[in-house]
Amino acid sequence: MMGAGPVPIPAKVAAANSIVINHLGGAMLRIIEQVKAMSRYVFQTESLHILGVAGPGSAAMEMAIANLIEPDDVVLSVSNGFFSDRLADMSERVGGNVICLKIEEGQAADPQLVEAAIISHHPKILTIVQGETSNTVCNAALPAICLAAKIANCLVIVDAVCTLSAMPLNMDAWGIDAVITGGQKGLSCIPGVSLVAFSNNAWDKITTRSDTLHHWCLDAKLADKFWYQSSYHYTAPVSGIMAIHEALRLVCQESLPSRFDRHLKCSLALQAGILGLGLSLSVDKAARLNSVIGIHVTDELNQKDILKHISREYQVEISGSFGLDIIRIGQMGEQCRVHNIFRTLHALGSTIKELGGAANLPQGVAMFERTLQEYKPVFSSLNV
Ligand SMILES: *Cc1c(COP(=O)(O)O)cnc(C)c1O
Repeated sequence: MMGAGPVPIPAKVAAANSIVINHLGGAMLRIIEQVKAMSRYVFQTESLHILGVAGPGSAAMEMAIANLIEPDDVVLSVSNGFFSDRLADMSERVGGNVICLKIEEGQAADPQLVEAAIISHHPKILTIVQGETSNTVCNAALPAICLAAKIANCLVIVDAVCTLSAMPLNMDAWGIDAVITGGQKGLSCIPGVSLVAFSNNAWDKITTRSDTLHHWCLDAKLADKFWYQSSYHYTAPVSGIMAIHEALRLVCQESLPSRFDRHLKCSLALQAGILGLGLSLSVDKAARLNSVIGIHVTDELNQKDILKHISREYQVEISGSFGLDIIRIGQMGEQCRVHNIFRTLHALGSTIKELGGAANLPQGVAMFERTLQEYKPVFSSLNV
């Protein structure tokens, strides 16, 4: 599974996911305390408002949106594509007055443009993705954008579903008010259990608003009962929480700096390999997401044929895209193992040749290998 998610999970996560225990007992209490403690490290926050959600990444997005946006609040949605538009759509549905700042296809959000939009519209909330999985763009200027929002007293919601633990995200240092992640991408866990971290400012807004939320399952004040008061909200997805506990433990054990280096090294090697095959990447380096990359499909080949062939002949699954003529390969969590990336590169080059296209496999493999060997750790002093 080398597509845009879900991604393969470690055997230990699969084993943890086979356990069901009492959802309110002493063992669960300790598990929850540890999930929160490990999440604080992974989100880089001291927040005491980290909540789990039984649901997809989208449910965590909706939890952040529904709790932080009151009817008629002005919301500035930075729109890079499919998932950032989902944040805007959700914001509209809860009654937000949404202003969409459309970013040119293939470009990252320019912090000066976002700042100008903040100054002219005075939003109470800004929504943005760190990585736009759909078109493989990364908003690398996220810290500057968060700072501009903070100065204007605007709360920032960041979707980090495909990026958390794959690249740096410093919730407290960057001043983010809600960070969302799902299980099945960066964390290399199962789909269906997600996490949201709220800042103190965000929590103030949640606890001081006077209306009653239309959402019951996603009401953060009700979820707080389970996550901080060891009492019943709804029956927690026990086995999913066991899985996310194990996935977080593996992140902590590896440490974030080593994990970031493992991801960057594998991604850069794959990118070099793809260019070596003679193919081109859909996003320029400055805006390129290093956790899912997009590859242009040459004119004579069909995207669907490539996906079908590589799956049938090589048992490698990769993704198409939502409307764009690109294929996408993921580098999240367990996908970022050299053997997985190598096998994918070989399978892609072979597939293209077998379908009658041109791919220079020896050169692709050589550039892949050279990039691996010449990689210098950026985040850690350790050899990865
Ligand atoms: C996958 C993804 C989502 C949605 O996650 P689901 O689990 O499919 O709901 C949201 N945002 C981003 C950036 C994603 O990559």
